[in-house]
Parts: sequence; C-alpha cells; structure tokens
Amino acid sequence: MSSWVQNHGTSEHSAGLETPLQAPNQRCWFILDPIGILCAMAAWALVLSGGWVLFRDLLIPSNNMLYIVANGVVFHLLASLALASHLRTMLTDPGSVPLGNPPGPDTVSYCTDCHSAIPRTACHCTVCQRCIRKNDHHCPWINNCIGEDNQKYFLLFTMYIGLTSTHVLLLLGIPVLCSYMRGEWDSSSTVSLPAPILFLLLVAIMGFLFAVVMLCSQMCVIYSDKTTTELLYQNTHSGGRWSKCANMKAVCGSHVSLAWLSPFHSPEHYKVSEHHDMA
Ligand SMILES: [Zn+2]
Ligand SMILES: [Zn+2]
Repeated sequence: MSSWVQNHGTSEHSAGLETPLQAPNQRCWFILDPIGILCAMAAWALVLSGGWVLFRDLLIPSNNMLYIVANGVVFHLLASLALASHLRTMLTDPGSVPLGNPPGPDTVSYCTDCHSAIPRTACHCTVCQRCIRKNDHHCPWINNCIGEDNQKYFLLFTMYIGLTSTHVLLLLGIPVLCSYMRGEWDSSSTVSLPAPILFLLLVAIMGFLFAVVMLCSQMCVIYSDKTTTELLYQNTHSGGRWSKCANMKAVCGSHVSLAWLSPFHSPEHYKVSEHHDMA
C-alpha cells in the first residue's frame, strides 16, 4: 500500500499562531490503497444504484409528474452534495506533517517512518504512510484519513448521506403507513417486497445507520477538541480547552454561514486558539 502525494512543502509548525495554515486545496492528494479505492467505489455504486432503483421502481410507476419531479430534485440535490463531500474528503490532504519536518516548539516525538518531528496531536497512519495532524481515524469508505484539514467535508458527507437515506426511507415508509391507517392491513396480511425495493430499503437503512453513528461521533470529537482514539482510550470525557462553538469554527470556518453546508467551500484553517477569542 502506498500513497501518491504532491506536497509543495509547509512550514506551518514553525510559523507561529498568528499565521494561517497552508490552504489544503493547494496540494494534490490520493491514497493508492486497493482496498480503500474499492470501498470508495462501492460507496459511490451504492448511492448511484440506489438512485436508479428509486426512479425506476418507485417514482416513475407512481405516474404523478409533480411527485416524480419534486422527489427527483430532492434526491439528486442531497445525493450530489453527499458524493461531492465524499470526493473532497478523499482528495484533500487531511493535514500531513511534511516529510523531514524539522523540530519546532510543539514537537513531542519523532517518526522514524516519515523522518519527521511530529507535533502533539499528530500520529502516523500505516495506510497513508504519513503522520497526520489531529488524525481522527483512517476511513476505508473514504480511502483517506480524517484529519483537521478534511474533517468538515467528512462531517458534510455523513450529514448528506443521512438526509438522503432519510428521504428514501420516508418515500418507502409513508405509503405503507398510509395503507395501514386506511385499515388495509389485518392479521392475515403479509409483506412481500420486490427484490429491487428490498435492495433500496437495505441500502437506505445501512446509509442511515452509518450516518447516525459517524455524525454523532464526529460531533463529540469536534465539540471536545479531541480525536476518536483520545475519546475512546484516554481520559475520555474531560472537556476541551475551548468552547464548542470555537471548536466547530476551527473545523468548518471562522464565520457561521451557509458556506458551512457547502462541500465546495474550503474553510480557513486557523489554530483553535484564535477562534477562542472570537467565540
Ligand atoms: Zn510518520
Ligand atoms: Zn490514513
């Protein structure tokens, strides 16, 4: 397993707290891990095939143009935002420590794989083969680490997957609920779902559960200014040094705006200590 990285070099660790970190979109980043690439393609295939089944077996048979167009637009909007967020999480440098990084004031140890002095929050990822700042975890479905520079996109990915799955579950569940309310069900009624609808239901349930678990865990790590590993294994429930709002701004951008919901907008990456003053 290896990574292909084009890094233009950074000196953020010696630049001091006043200097913004290098914008992550200035780098090209893609992890050449066959399992990760396969999982990431599977995630896209599930969303795209789910959308195809939704149209072919659920929306079009309704013969209601308003119903088809309205739900088609909602599904396409949410699914497109989810896939765009997935792509940006995968292709954004999560916060790699430069190879051969010299020791600085925040250096706590040395990585023999990267030959780099590493700061307090960084740890080495064996899949990416790099030390990543504030490394939360390596996600095979994203084929990348989740670190401080791509956490916003991962958060958006889980949110839009959750909303897309909820929309599909409502489309499947509301007609069943209506038929039950009309008294069309009795003790002898049986449920027989066609295979495509069963596939759509399972994909939607899987997406919904994934989104709920990941969204809740990410909100916890962001609010507490920790990583998932720190929350699980180290002095777990102590609060972060800064407010929840300041920690959220450090991930999503320094000003609360609609841009927080856009996977196309790159947040400004400042150290959280600066946001503390704004919170
Ligand atoms: Zn390393
Ligand atoms: Zn990794």
